Amino acid sequence: MMRTGIVFVGYGLANKIGESIYINKALAKHPNLFQKIMNHEIKHATGQKNVDVNEPFDWELFKFTLKHPSAWLQFLPIWVIKNKIIYSKTMIYLWLFIIAWIIFLVAVASWMI
Ligand SMILES: [Zn+2]
Repeated sequence: MMRTGIVFVGYGLANKIGESIYINKALAKHPNLFQKIMNHEIKHATGQKNVDVNEPFDWELFKFTLKHPSAWLQFLPIWVIKNKIIYSKTMIYLWLFIIAWIIFLVAVASWMI
């Protein structure tokens, strides 16, 4: 297994960028959640497939996200960190899915009028 360092940041939840895991420092106050997220990122780091798709919904994470607006940045599909562009395929698919639904609903609504 590769050596992976932890970098505490003030935004998002967690991202693996290069050899490092960037994790929101607010998570340090939630050791249980911190551990769950680290386990998730370690799955990414060890190259497991479909890690995000197979992750079950987590109420503790949901509540944390609601309470910490800095975490909302996690749901952007594309980030720029240290002049490098980082993108999340999962988030790009999710956003495309949501946009497709909005277009579909607008189309149906305008067709009904
Ligand atoms: Zn993930």
